[in-house]
Amino acid sequence: LAKAAGKNTFRFFEPHMNVDAVQRQQLQNALRAALGSGQLALHYQPKFDLRSGQLTGSEALVRWHHPTLGHVPPARFIAIAEDFGLIGALGRWVREAACAQMVAWQRQGRAAAHTAVNVSAQELHQNSFEADLLRTLQETGVAPERLQLEITEGVLLRDTDAALAKLSRIRDMGVRLAIDDFGTGYSSLSYLRRLPVDTIKIDQSFIRELGRDNDIDGAGAVIVRAVIGMGQSMGRRIVAEGVEAQAELDFLRRQDCDEAQGYWFSAALPAAEFASRYG
Ligand code: C2E
Ligand code: MG
Ligand code: MG
Ligand code: MG
Repeated sequence: LAKAAGKNTFRFFEPHMNVDAVQRQQLQNALRAALGSGQLALHYQPKFDLRSGQLTGSEALVRWHHPTLGHVPPARFIAIAEDFGLIGALGRWVREAACAQMVAWQRQGRAAAHTAVNVSAQELHQNSFEADLLRTLQETGVAPERLQLEITEGVLLRDTDAALAKLSRIRDMGVRLAIDDFGTGYSSLSYLRRLPVDTIKIDQSFIRELGRDNDIDGAGAVIVRAVIGMGQSMGRRIVAEGVEAQAELDFLRRQDCDEAQGYWFSAALPAAEFASRYG
């Protein structure tokens, strides 16, 4: 068929496409069911101040354990949620769960540190986003300052001015904002000035490129130094993501990076384990 259809047409019967489409459809149905059934959980990864060594807060990362499929990676099911119109419901679940957990920890007298949640670009662009966010804060009674939203540069690719205005209103509510995976998108450092974010998270790919021997002229080192210098001069806090090695940590300390997060400290942990280690 593909041949007969000629050059400028799609090939309909690529076997791998069919398998993928079927799998995506199945995952979509499974995710729809999971949203109301306790299969989703948040795990918490600690972040630390590099000068004092103190815990500054955590990032909540969603986990899905399906009864037969097992652990489905977030990168996979978030893409599915976006494509099938489930991202609004998933994001609401994440924020409600994170806020409820903060309240529970507060009741137990544990540290009132902040929790960060990830928000995908598609979710942020939805009209209901601000009202949903406000309702979650009001219903749980969490102080807006204790919630941080991590967004990626991709948020600004669409409707830049409207997106910036929305972020400013969210910032005015008191909610803190971080730019996630910084350096992987298309925005320039000077563009940062327009972004109403308190925090810049340097993408882990640059930390990885620091290399074992801390090559000070290597590509990773150059970018990490530039982001720290420029970001701090604009009054932003800089967090290094994906720190796995002592040498990376030493380099970041020498560059006066503010905070770090990564397997060197801890992977994301179930809430109870996080509390018993860091509460
Ligand atoms: P992210 O927000 O940049 O999160 C960091 C990812 O790196 C997490 O993967 C985390 O487990 C992993 N990580 C942390 N430390 C290290 C390290 O030292 N080395 C390495 N190699 N990896 C490390 P995870 O949990 O699989 O999440 C992947 C991505 O999925 C996240 O990237 C985020 O973009 C998205 N995601 C996760 N949870 C949510 C959520 O609740 N909502 C939305 N919209 N997206 C989420
Ligand atoms: Mg993140
Ligand atoms: Mg990241
Ligand atoms: Mg990422």
